[in-house]
Amino acid sequence: MPDITVNDQQLDEQLTQLELTRLWSPRVISKLETFIRSALDVELFRINPVQYALERSMSEAEALDLFLHATKVGLFEMDWHIVCPHCGFIIDSLPSMNQLHTHYLCPICGSERDYALDDYIQVAFSITPQVRDIQYHHPESLSIEDLYLNYRLSKELISPLPAFPAWRDAVIYITKYLGYVQPGEKVTAEFDLPPGILRATDSRTCLQLSATYEQTEQTSLIPLRLVDGKFQSDDPEMQPRSLTSYTAESEPVQFRYDLERDLPSGRLVVEVENLQDRRSALCIYHPGEMPTPVLALRPSLSGKSLLTSQTFRDLFRSEVINTNETLAIKDITFLFTDLKGSTAMYEQIGDAKAYFLVHQHFDALSRVIRDRNGAIVKTIGDAVMAVFDNPVEATSAALEMIDALDEFNRTISQALILKVGIHRGHSIAVTVNERNDYFGQNVNIAARVQALADANEVYLTADVYNSPGVSDVLKAHHVVPDEVLVKGVSEKLNVYKIGRQHRD
Ligand SMILES: [Zn+2]
Repeated sequence: MPDITVNDQQLDEQLTQLELTRLWSPRVISKLETFIRSALDVELFRINPVQYALERSMSEAEALDLFLHATKVGLFEMDWHIVCPHCGFIIDSLPSMNQLHTHYLCPICGSERDYALDDYIQVAFSITPQVRDIQYHHPESLSIEDLYLNYRLSKELISPLPAFPAWRDAVIYITKYLGYVQPGEKVTAEFDLPPGILRATDSRTCLQLSATYEQTEQTSLIPLRLVDGKFQSDDPEMQPRSLTSYTAESEPVQFRYDLERDLPSGRLVVEVENLQDRRSALCIYHPGEMPTPVLALRPSLSGKSLLTSQTFRDLFRSEVINTNETLAIKDITFLFTDLKGSTAMYEQIGDAKAYFLVHQHFDALSRVIRDRNGAIVKTIGDAVMAVFDNPVEATSAALEMIDALDEFNRTISQALILKVGIHRGHSIAVTVNERNDYFGQNVNIAARVQALADANEVYLTADVYNSPGVSDVLKAHHVVPDEVLVKGVSEKLNVYKIGRQHRD
């Protein structure tokens, strides 16, 4: 293992700054310091804050806050990356969400698909080189095994294969050739090819050979060149191709290759000549007849979860989606609030006083939203639009908001009366007015459901009400189901009106 070099002065200064950013639980900062000083290089690369929290019995929310504040003071760098669900390698790694797209072609396996912010778009944190230099800051100096298995392969994969509890071991098992090819160098790999597929990648692009059940006694020779980041071949049967493969559940997956061909199974020689002016990291692997895997990830920080963090929104205001992009989200919970009778209040007490009260009410609501791990997207007049990763937290927040406003009302002469609506579903994340925002029919439904609520009422759609855990939160409350038509939605919507808590 290389020596650990920590910039003590920098680390001390930044930890001192970090300590002052908020109130931390006991020993959170000292444990982080120990981690930075003593962890292996690989552990300080793409840290998953959810696993960090689990390993230290911290709350997930505090761990996320810790890494966000630590990134802000310069201890860590944020890394947005896209994990390929069909091979487990990281397709792209970006310092900012501004560079994210929705459509990616995996250079390792050739799968081509759309990505959503809440599935394989992940966020992790790596130590900055100014604090501690780690090997993974210098991928060009890594061994090829380290490059593929530690730098490019996601750490968060759950193996679907009982024979290989760690996906990494499955990758090692199917790898037939791994080596750097220098500019101008030609390498030869020779092996027996059983029926099934074989792929070659240089970590930037890939090709596929599909071996049939036809056997040949002759050795097949596949001559290949790497030119301008692509594979080329003089073999006329090797052609660019798009193919469909199937998962074990018969779901189709699209693949695209620089080159592809069928060939009989038997002895195979692959020659690769690197005609580029940079070194190529060649990997030839043999998935064989395995159906296309769909890899799941350990609990980790998705792009969506990060966007529903108020700390992220507060600290990284310039971190927004590219204005030309819309990023899909499969499932997110929207909460809208509004004040009842505010027009009358403005008339009674005047604009200035009303403005002051409305602002104080925003403060009270934002405290609840933050405590419940949600984030305010925007305020519109007297209304708040907030997002949550978790519908249970959103429902708890709604009930606590009404209590918080009740409390607040005791301190003022003019009572403010809240109306809340919650809905969950898919959406798209966009940038509007240099701010992360959300768009789509489910946002509209959430706003319309809010409009159904009367004084101190919360309306939930069936999608929220039926979410695991929500009924527990509502145990002590009076719930009235209803069916309503809302503007812009053709079918009747099942909603649930939550009244004030029963007081015995
Ligand atoms: Zn892949």
